[in-house]
Parts: sequence; C-alpha cells; structure tokens
Amino acid sequence: MLYETDLLIIGAGPVGLFAAFQAGMLKIKCIVVDSLDAIGGQCAMLYPEKPIYDIPAYSMITGNDLINKLYEQIKPFNQTIILNQKILDIISDRDYLVKTQDAIFKTKSIVIATGGGNFTPNRPPLQNIQDFEGKSVFYSVNNVSNFEDKTVVIAGGGDSAVDWAINLACVAKHVYIVHRRDKFRAMQNSLEQLKDLINQNKVEMIVPYQLSSLNGNNGCLESVVVQNLDGEIKTLECDYLLPFFGIAMDHHELSSWNLNMTSDNKYIMVDPSTMEANLHKVFAIGDICQYPGKLKLILTGFAEASLAVHTAFSRINPDTALHFEHSTTKGIPKCNNHSK
Ligand SMILES: Cc1cc2nc3c(=O)[nH]c(=O)nc-3n(C[C@H](O)[C@H](O)[C@H](O)COP(=O)(O)OP(=O)(O)OC[C@H]3O[C@@H](n4cnc5c(N)ncnc54)[C@H](O)[C@@H]3O)c2cc1C
Repeated sequence: MLYETDLLIIGAGPVGLFAAFQAGMLKIKCIVVDSLDAIGGQCAMLYPEKPIYDIPAYSMITGNDLINKLYEQIKPFNQTIILNQKILDIISDRDYLVKTQDAIFKTKSIVIATGGGNFTPNRPPLQNIQDFEGKSVFYSVNNVSNFEDKTVVIAGGGDSAVDWAINLACVAKHVYIVHRRDKFRAMQNSLEQLKDLINQNKVEMIVPYQLSSLNGNNGCLESVVVQNLDGEIKTLECDYLLPFFGIAMDHHELSSWNLNMTSDNKYIMVDPSTMEANLHKVFAIGDICQYPGKLKLILTGFAEASLAVHTAFSRINPDTALHFEHSTTKGIPKCNNHSK
C-alpha cells in the first residue's frame, strides 16, 4: 500500500499526538504511524492508571485520560492515524520514502517521535511458550469477554498482574495469580481490591511460585506447572496464561536511518532551535531526541512538537511566509470524523 503525505509522524505517544494537533493548526495534513495496536505510547502501555502531576493545568491526570484528551484535541483536524505498522526504513529521495512491513509512505517531511522505542513484552523462559502465543498465552488483554467462564493464570507481581486479576475476576470462572514473592508492587487501592477478591475465592494466590512448564496441544493450554524454591510443584488446570513481566523497549531499526545519534546510539541529536536532525526536513521530538539541557518530560515534548511542526511548515512550503498566530485568533475547524 502506498500513502502520500506532506508530513509523516512516527510514533503515536503523547508527543507524536500533540505534533499531529500542531500540524492541524498549521493546516498541514499528516499521517501518524505506530507499531502498536493502540495510541498512547508509554502513558498507555506502562502507566495507564497512574496519576501524572506535572501536566500544566491538570493537578492530576492519569496516563489513559491524558491520551484520550490528546486524541480529542486532534479530532477536528481529521488527521490519519495508522496503527500496527512498524517503521523499518527511511530512504532519502527528493522526498522521503518510509517503509513499514506492508506499506510505503511518500512524504515531504518526517517527525520522529518514537520515544523509548518499540515495546516488546518480556517472555518467561518457558521452552514451548511460542507454541501457545496468540492462542492461549497473551501479553496484553484486548477483549475481556474472551475470558468469560474461563480459568486464567496470571503471572507477575506488578500493577498489570494485579489490575488484570481484579478485572478478569468479574468475568472468568477462576483466576490464579502466580508470583515468586508474597508481596506485590501495585497501588494500595488495587491491593485492597485483590485481597477482597481472594477472600471471596474469586482469585487464588499461588505464592511464592514461578512458572515451570506448559502443557497442552495445538496452541490450546491445558495446564500450567509452577514450582517453588523447595522444588514443590503444583499443576494449575487452565485455559489461558497471561504473563506480565514488564515490557522491554528498543529502537534497533533507528541505526539504519542515517541519523546523527548520541555516542550510546540511543538518541537522535537535533538542533534545539528547530528540532531538525542532520537530515533535511527530518525532525525528532520527545524522548527520542537529545540536545544540551534536554528534559525527558511530556511537557518538554509538547513544546518540541510545536517547534518542529512550525519549522516543518517552512521547509514544506519554502515560498509561503508563516505568520505566527495564537490559537485564540486562529480557532479550530468544526469536528469531522477522524480516521483511525
Ligand atoms: C512509569 C513512568 C512514569 C512516568 N511519569 C511521568 C510523569 O509523571 N511526567 C512526565 O512528564 N513524564 C513521565 N514519564 C515519561 C513520559 O511517559 C515520556 O516522556 C513520554 O511518554 C514520551 O513521549 P513520546 O511520545 O516521546 O514517546 P513514547 O510515549 O515512548 O511513544 C513512542 C511511540 O512510538 C512508537 N514507535 C517506536 N518505534 C516505532 C517504529 N519504528 N515504528 C512505529 N512506531 C514506533 C511506540 O510504539 C510508541 O507508541 C513517565 C514514564 C514512565 C515509564
């Protein structure tokens, strides 16, 4: 599939989303692409329910609520958001050709907002786990109703494990939560809810145990075997396993994009007065960019997004003067349907 656009924004984290808003304000049509199946980057993946206290004008807002508000803010501009597409390569021609696994984007300008990189769930070291992945082993939950009347083993001791044990306890037949310690790292309120569900026999704690092996056929799990440090074994009959052992982030593909990187190869060096990288009309903003004095904060990323998009306007339209205007003067279009 070939797409053509004036501006391609890579990454639909908070900073990429705000860049799409700023592009809308300057009447630049853009496409936002993300490798995940949902928008929101770290806010949505790593701390959806955690309170954030340093977003201007919000004394407190959760990760998910912030992303919902950013999404609402870009809706009037009808920008396109394409999910499940990982940018693999950027080829410099007169414009740029940007490739994903099954699409090519022809674009005049690029804003890279890839943050900490691609998210990959940490797999438990079980020999045959890949045979069950996508069928009865999942690293995230998209549809709670799939677990209705099923027996689910949740493994892990952090917020995700505890939150999903609580959520699935309402629909599942039985929920086991397996953790190597008897202490969980989760919000106090969630721990209290978990305790109540354990008292009501809706959730069963299997501690201190670790996953040992999986049994089943054709991707359908029949049981999960767990073991403690004394070698005692339990076999938990179940339909699903949800391992929540954190998420690793990487940006291996960046090294082939011909960008000036920091010496540890983790960040893209930019000119902080424009956010432009060493490639003409290619900008980097948010957690992925680096310059003297950079603060890895969402609010810093928002300012970087404005700067990058204003510069991009002049690069895309070299013969058109950009008259700076406040949003109070400019206003926003009436809300259209938003494509996602
Ligand atoms: C636990 C925790 C708490 C935090 N608390 C705060 C706080 O209180 N205040 C604050 O200001 N900041 C906080 N942060 C930091 C904040 O979340 C980041 O600064 C912010 O998410 C950066 O936004 P971003 O859009 O640059 O990148 P990200 O949020 O990392 O989003 C990047 C997006 O790019 C996508 N992507 C990456 N590579 C590709 C590719 N090749 N192709 C397509 N898509 C790609 C990813 O899937 C992701 O969706 C916290 C971070 C964590 C982990």
